Amino acid sequence: MQVTFLGTGAAMPTGERNQTGLLLEDSGGDADPLLIDCGSGAMHGLAATDVGYEGIDTVLLTHYHLDHVSDLLPLLKARWLAGETDLEIIGPDGTGALIEGLLSVHDYMAGRFDLSIREVSPGSFSAAGYDVAAVETVHSMHCLAYRLEADDPTARRFWPTTVRSPTTSTSTTTRRRRSSARRWPATISAAST
Ligand SMILES: [Zn+2]
Repeated sequence: MQVTFLGTGAAMPTGERNQTGLLLEDSGGDADPLLIDCGSGAMHGLAATDVGYEGIDTVLLTHYHLDHVSDLLPLLKARWLAGETDLEIIGPDGTGALIEGLLSVHDYMAGRFDLSIREVSPGSFSAAGYDVAAVETVHSMHCLAYRLEADDPTARRFWPTTVRSPTTSTSTTTRRRRSSARRWPATISAAST
């Protein structure tokens, strides 16, 4: 499983990081590419990947703060212009109302998409071929955190504090000092333990 950080910024822009978006690819299995959250700039990060915005059929949302959903409509329109009108959007209770509300202020986009909306609760479900376990987080609005598993024989446990870039042997500490010069998206591999 490969995780590409399309954006790791928050609601206040830094000029260096897109807002939240993660791309999951199951290189060793059958799961489809999955986009988790879609904050401002995440779609540009997605366009810089091999998957691209055309290659995403499923979006999984954690919650509805703007820094996690503000590129949803730009994603829909870009896919429409590329001839891709199918999209499944999965998220906590209220996802349907969110999408309906967003589309309602852009009449020209009405009826142009074949959207599948699925609202999920804490527990287990499947998304894009991944087995997902959801738990509710402590946040200022209803929010779910997800654990995803895929049938990937090469899968290893992900430890953020020991992760290494596949393109450099530079230490985590050194790379952190240089982080202001890094460009997103950043793709990293999970470190084995
Ligand atoms: Zn939030």
